[in-house]
Amino acid sequence: MGESDGIVIVGAGLAGGKAAEALREQGYSGALTLVGGERYRPYERPPLSKGYLAREQPFEKAFVHPAGWYAEHEVDLRTGIRVTGIDRVAGRVRLADGTELAYRKLLLATGSTPRLLPLAGIDAPNVHTLRTVEDSDVLAEALSRIGRLLIVGAGWIGLEVAAAARKAGAEVSIVEAAELPLLRVLGPELAAVFADLHRANGVDLRLGARLAGVEVAGGQATGLRMADGELLAGDAVLVAVGAAPNVELAAEAGLAVDDGVLVDAGLVSSDPDILACGDIANVESPFYGGRIRVEHWATALKQPAVAARSMLGVEASYDELPYFYTDQYDLGMEFLGHTGAGYDQVVVRGALERREFVACWLDGGRVVAGMNVNVWDVTDPIKQLIRSRRQVDVDRLANPEVPLGAV
Ligand SMILES: Cc1cc2nc3c(=O)[nH]c(=O)nc-3n(C[C@H](O)[C@H](O)[C@H](O)COP(=O)(O)OP(=O)(O)OC[C@H]3O[C@@H](n4cnc5c(N)ncnc54)[C@H](O)[C@@H]3O)c2cc1C
Repeated sequence: MGESDGIVIVGAGLAGGKAAEALREQGYSGALTLVGGERYRPYERPPLSKGYLAREQPFEKAFVHPAGWYAEHEVDLRTGIRVTGIDRVAGRVRLADGTELAYRKLLLATGSTPRLLPLAGIDAPNVHTLRTVEDSDVLAEALSRIGRLLIVGAGWIGLEVAAAARKAGAEVSIVEAAELPLLRVLGPELAAVFADLHRANGVDLRLGARLAGVEVAGGQATGLRMADGELLAGDAVLVAVGAAPNVELAAEAGLAVDDGVLVDAGLVSSDPDILACGDIANVESPFYGGRIRVEHWATALKQPAVAARSMLGVEASYDELPYFYTDQYDLGMEFLGHTGAGYDQVVVRGALERREFVACWLDGGRVVAGMNVNVWDVTDPIKQLIRSRRQVDVDRLANPEVPLGAV
């Protein structure tokens, strides 16, 4: 098999690592190169804001595969080097050291980069973002010695870090522009649960807040200046205001890009030899009948098998519902589906105040999303409710005595 018969994967995160695994599992025995800009072999990021940040879990547990797996499976893993360009005509990618790799099929799995805010003082060294294990190490070290952490953004990562910081004994203030944390994802009814949770754990939650800048003294951030003039003093800042998909390579190569790399249900881009998966893939979803891009662990875990099938010429389609989980303090939760297309009713079964319940978002009597909080083993029935698109009996849905599958 010549060099041009090979498959190249760009991005050695969860999606890249799983794609290499899926290709070998599906019988691909040709040349396979996995190129990653980070110095480590593929690892999972969820622990970086949870157990690993809290120093309860070793980094070793986050790796996608054991160290020897890549050599054993003849995957040419190149870490610590970035792909800098794609020549689609020649079917080659260029690496930062000037070398080139020929491909027959190219899979882009380049993930996301935290967004920053265009604020004065944002580049101070103790203003952090969180994406890599190094970011998590810096934050953990800061948490071990600081008095107060200031978090900008009450999204998933901001809230998880707040929980880890409280556990580490730090004071925490969160500054959020919206009226509630996670408002856009959960809506006001359920977002309030997370506001209560963090307040109950001693977090100073500033909602509807307007930020003017980062206060800097002696080269270090010393606080956040609010638009009304108030100074919120702190010893370090975490900016957690979302992430942007890394689409530069795809865009420069002339692939169709619009909030991610545009791919069909088989994860094939506008170039039939180039595919995308994980955070960067904006997928034509058969179930939703439109495009959806999901920045969640489960997507990066499951899309690679579909990408692998497509690359090997087998008809494949990615049609999973978005799935997300989080752990904060003593709250564990899973969320399935999405509320983005709208909903007109929220039904809760169980005890909202004890944070032990299942919530379902309905649109026209049909369940579009479900969240289980400290209740387990219900994702399958919730998935069936969403996928069936059937009208449900709201009283039965609210009644914990009625099995979810029978509402
Ligand atoms: C702190 C944190 C906590 C999270 N917690 C959860 C959670 O609890 N639940 C959940 O569902 N999701 C969670 N997520 C989201 C989840 O981790 C991501 O959706 C997932 O990592 C996406 O995987 P990916 O492989 O697409 O991208 P990434 O994991 O970002 O991997 C992409 C890799 O590609 C590399 N790369 C980029 N460009 C190039 C290039 N040009 N050349 C070579 N390499 C390149 C990057 O350096 C990176 O290593 C969390 C994310 C973070 C940051």
